[in-house]
Amino acid sequence: MRPTGKLHLGNYMGALVNWVKLQDQYECYFFIADWHALTTDYADTSQIARNTLDVMLDYLAAGLDPARSVLFLQSKVLQHAELNLLLGMITPLGWLERVPSYKEQQENLVGKDLSNIGFLDYPLLMASDILIYQPQFVPVGNDQTAHVELTREVARRFNQFYKLAVADKLDGQEVLPEPQVLLTPSPKLPGTDGRKMSKSYGNTILLTDPEPVVSQKLKTMVTDPVRIRRTDKGDPDKCPVGDLHKVFSTPETLAKVYDGCRSAGIGCIECKGWAADALVQVLQPIQARRAGFSESQAIEILEEGSNRARIRAEQTMVEVRAAMRMTLTTPAAQ
Ligand code: SF4
Repeated sequence: MRPTGKLHLGNYMGALVNWVKLQDQYECYFFIADWHALTTDYADTSQIARNTLDVMLDYLAAGLDPARSVLFLQSKVLQHAELNLLLGMITPLGWLERVPSYKEQQENLVGKDLSNIGFLDYPLLMASDILIYQPQFVPVGNDQTAHVELTREVARRFNQFYKLAVADKLDGQEVLPEPQVLLTPSPKLPGTDGRKMSKSYGNTILLTDPEPVVSQKLKTMVTDPVRIRRTDKGDPDKCPVGDLHKVFSTPETLAKVYDGCRSAGIGCIECKGWAADALVQVLQPIQARRAGFSESQAIEILEEGSNRARIRAEQTMVEVRAAMRMTLTTPAAQ
């Protein structure tokens, strides 16, 4: 995740909750992508260090466990940049220009000049972030599969170019195996304005929001537009608060929401109160865990994880450099 601010419920349900479970089944690497933050926020870097710490505390609060997973900071593992540079040599420009989010974000992020090389290159940096660990799987939601597909294409191209050079050394294995998508559930989670919960829309509920803030945010949340008066009947399937209930409320509460909303038996204020209660139930254990970590502990864990990641990344780079013959040997030895 990019360190652009504290994490919110959308980040939690779309990624973190899945990552926490994956720790039981896989050897996992989770990082904070501070170089990726620069691709759009290069003009003002003043908040990156603060945000990095907040994201790390959110990771720990959500249940990512440094004893089971490697938690690290991208810029502390320089091998990502080296692989990015080398892959840049073999990646056609058109592959990056056709990434859908390239044009989309240039149009959407008004007021930011995104005609920089770093922004064009970010999908390739992402590919490097993945391939440097020679992983089997990349856990992503549906909206991220295109990035993994590009990663696979880049790996394939690399392996085609440099296959022969490493055939003996690696017993015919490819240096950069093509990773598979591990599709993780990402439920539809609306923000307070009804659009997808996202920091850039300013409609989030943060993992650190205390109960009064959650209640206040819910009070201002948009509802089914046809339910204007208390006596109007509504439909939870057309209401963002209804969507929150579907994700967080018990089946009993959800049944009461459907009945009450469709018969005008309940008011929206009451319904929002139930939604706030359900959110607080989810947030409380996260906030309790977060209180158990100091900022200096978080930094220490990040340093230690980055050391572990660097060792693993360097193993890959030794193979990559050998495959590309970027080593200092006499010509006869090649
Ligand atoms: S009662 Fe609940 S689900 Fe129905 S419109 Fe109001 S807030 Fe939405």
